Amino acid sequence: MERHLNYIGGNWVEPGTGDYCQSHNPACPSQVLGEFPRSGAADVDAAVASAEAARAVWDHTLAPQRSAILLRFSQLLLDSKDELARIVTLEQGKALSESVGEVTRAAAEAAFAAGEAMRLSGQTFPNERPGFSCYTVLQPVGVVAAITPWNFPVVSPVRKIAPALACGNTVVLKPASLTPRSAVYLARLLEKVGLPPGVLNLVIGSGECGQRLISDTRVRGISFTGSTAVGVRIAEKVAARMAKVQLELGGKNPAIVLECDDLDGAAQEIVAAAFLCSGQRCTALSRVIVEESQTDQLRERLVAHMAKIRVGNGLDPQTTMGPLVSRQQLETVAGYVRRGREDRSTLVVGGRQLIENPESEGYFYEPTLFDHVSPSSGLAQEEIFGPVLPIIRVRNAQEAFEVANSTRYGLAASLFTANRHLVDEFVQRVESGMVHVNHGTASQAHVPFGGVKDSGQGAFSIGPTVKDAFTTVKTVYIKW
Ligand code: NDP
Repeated sequence: MERHLNYIGGNWVEPGTGDYCQSHNPACPSQVLGEFPRSGAADVDAAVASAEAARAVWDHTLAPQRSAILLRFSQLLLDSKDELARIVTLEQGKALSESVGEVTRAAAEAAFAAGEAMRLSGQTFPNERPGFSCYTVLQPVGVVAAITPWNFPVVSPVRKIAPALACGNTVVLKPASLTPRSAVYLARLLEKVGLPPGVLNLVIGSGECGQRLISDTRVRGISFTGSTAVGVRIAEKVAARMAKVQLELGGKNPAIVLECDDLDGAAQEIVAAAFLCSGQRCTALSRVIVEESQTDQLRERLVAHMAKIRVGNGLDPQTTMGPLVSRQQLETVAGYVRRGREDRSTLVVGGRQLIENPESEGYFYEPTLFDHVSPSSGLAQEEIFGPVLPIIRVRNAQEAFEVANSTRYGLAASLFTANRHLVDEFVQRVESGMVHVNHGTASQAHVPFGGVKDSGQGAFSIGPTVKDAFTTVKTVYIKW
């Protein structure tokens, strides 16, 4: 079995603990994919020390060189797309076509970040007094901790590493324990493209490593994607020492359907956005809020599109939805479905674990639809992170927008309508970092991405806003 190591100071090193754990294929949990470090405090400390030491080198690496390295990285991602996508499917479970899409998207984001290295411009200002010049420059934050989840094991690290490096920072990456193999692959690509030693460091280990990392005063910036619970803990901890934070957290993203003249098109978009990655996406559509008069027709079409989903091993080309990532995630989803059945919601389709092959015992779950869900129930309020879609019936647009805003989250929202006035009202009223009209919640590789309320804090990632996350402003006054 292949044993993988940490990447610290340009070397692949054993963890100080000497301890390893195994990762498994969620489609077939008895299949062990490799051994990975169970790192301890000393490993995290060494990675931070290495990132701190490398700042001098990276500070003196000019923007065009940083840009060129990231462009090569982007190209290598594309060149290795098939191999890396297979790794993603093996350790995360998603359908291979989705994994290929993820790697391609990561390459596009890395290419955009490469360009950002050349666009780190400040501003000049007119002066109150003669003989002065005033301007601002953007400077790197310093050592950045990138802590990433398991649902997008390639895009999520790249979305942090590439802009952080473009802006002149050095990085310590702590990937999710469930998906370390993709992170090892990314570190190897960055080594291959000639990133100087110590500029990127990889420490594999549990959430405790993440905790150690964010507590280190040498870490001046933290970019975290994951659960709101952990995000809040990070924000509290880091506030005490005023480090910069960027938090991308959970969502309970509404699909609002009002005066829609293409219910079949709406259903198709909703089903795609709800069940991609088995619903384990922060931007997954996870509530359908629909006016009573259109509900029955929409429901029928949702069921028809859900029936086309082929659940199975992500490596099978026929599969369009893979397993959940872990037994724990499967149990969480099953728990929500149980609660949904116990309250007054109507189970329309799904609601069971799927035993594709009794010997493999993969974590497969049926695409599940509930109707008549109360807006205050767990199904409607909490981030399930699985293939479960509740329908909430409303009387009119006012009630729809109120229900849409009635959760703690504010990440993404979609409206499906033929009424232009409703679009204006939706854009204005819905409390959400990203809004979409007449399509699902797909984002683009150069457009700001983030949430409000409990869905996020700090600068949006992707696109030009990354500069706000990974640089600080310095104001310069010069008198001659
Ligand atoms: P977590 O928020 O626990 O994990 C995200 C990352 O943070 C992982 O790398 C994790 O490490 C690390 N981590 C865990 N605890 C700490 C800590 N105290 N300090 C610093 N880093 C820490 O998410 P889970 O993987 O446990 O998923 C739980 C739920 O979170 C999901 O069911 C879903 O609802 C939500 N989630 C949302 C995501 C999103 O994109 N918005 C992504 C993933 C999850 P390790 O993996 O080793 O525990």
